[in-house]
Amino acid sequence: MTVRIGVLALQGDVREHRQALAAVGAESAPVRTAADLARVDGIVLPGGESTTMSRLLGVFDLFEPLRDALAGGLPAYGSCAGMILLASRVLDTRSDARSLGTIDMTVRRNAFGRQVDSFETDLDVAGVPGGPMRAVFIRAPWVEEVAPEVDILARVRPQKVADGSTAGTIVAVRQGNAVATSFHPEVTGDLRMHDYFVRLVRDVAV
Ligand code: GLN
Repeated sequence: MTVRIGVLALQGDVREHRQALAAVGAESAPVRTAADLARVDGIVLPGGESTTMSRLLGVFDLFEPLRDALAGGLPAYGSCAGMILLASRVLDTRSDARSLGTIDMTVRRNAFGRQVDSFETDLDVAGVPGGPMRAVFIRAPWVEEVAPEVDILARVRPQKVADGSTAGTIVAVRQGNAVATSFHPEVTGDLRMHDYFVRLVRDVAV
């Protein structure tokens, strides 16, 4: 079925997400107002700068409508700054920054630190077939803690922990219809994350 996927278009890499959505055969539309939001079957929250987006959500009277639509099950995919916006708790952000509380997790902003502000790696994402995907991290957040309802889809830098098992930093999660990644699939040409999200939106829209 034909679905229309909104891309929050207040700031950030809106064009890259719209191109990736078009490439997987989905119709997309920019979302700047509550009226725009009412016309979409799912929404992408792009990478960019989360505190700026938080402020602009207020300026455009979109914060409450978006928070409520997400709480009502509107499918969402947030990459990087978008992940920060979807979190219920954010560390190392501005005191006036707000987040939407869609995914019950604690996210640390700019978590990978100065030395590795930006890096790339290959990682497996649960539910995304076809082997590891190239993941680009740009001043990326990581996920420090998740509630039991949150599925962990990917981790980076696996290392042995005390009990002998192998853990790593959480960089992709899903709770219900909301998916978030610390990395930016919209800049690599690998369309599998967008394809995954479009399939999710189609399943919910039926
Ligand atoms: N560091 C940015 C923030 O805090 C996120 C970076 C990104 O989206 N590439 O919002």
